Amino acid sequence: MRLFVMVGAPGAGKGTQAAILARALGVPHVASGELFRAAIRGETPLGRQVQEFMGRGALVPDELAIRLILHRLAEPDAADGAILDGFPRTRPQAAALDAALARRGAKVTGALYVGVREQELLRRLSGRWLCRAEGHSYHAVDHPPVRPGVCDIDGSELYQRDDDRPATVRARLERQLPPMYEVVDHYTERGILTAVDGEQSIEQVTEVLLRAMTQPAR
Ligand SMILES: [Zn+2]
Repeated sequence: MRLFVMVGAPGAGKGTQAAILARALGVPHVASGELFRAAIRGETPLGRQVQEFMGRGALVPDELAIRLILHRLAEPDAADGAILDGFPRTRPQAAALDAALARRGAKVTGALYVGVREQELLRRLSGRWLCRAEGHSYHAVDHPPVRPGVCDIDGSELYQRDDDRPATVRARLERQLPPMYEVVDHYTERGILTAVDGEQSIEQVTEVLLRAMTQPAR
């Protein structure tokens, strides 16, 4: 199984890339947020635990998140691999994921870091619109929906969050970037990080990442 981990700031386009790469390789795009929501909807035992935390606005504990991920990776459509998006977000999570995979004789094949300057992240995130149903993300300039105000994927209404204002976005990045850089360091130290300039076109970013992913296994 070839397991890839996407690394990137909010607004770097890693979710978009994960979806494109997953289609290109014929493996599932496992986005942790969607995974949690699906577990809750499915009312599985794990889903009920996730609900307990998310229901009171708490973070899903790492151990539970990893159990959900391993459960998802055991499904038949992930037999050849998967692209993980949204987890790990911290170095301890990355280490815990490595340990859990190692217990199953598995490992992360490669980490794909979509790098974007903070100034550019600010510009992108300040124009962001989200859909009410699934949180699909659009941008007033870079990625407008086909119909204004409506999600292309599920037809739900788009809205802009109060905290998509520049000052709030800057504060959020200042919180989220340091742990992300530690995740970058973690996979760099393991020698499995591919970094790509995320300010190129979507197609160029995809091309670089696909080339790295289809190299013979290291
Ligand atoms: Zn949507």
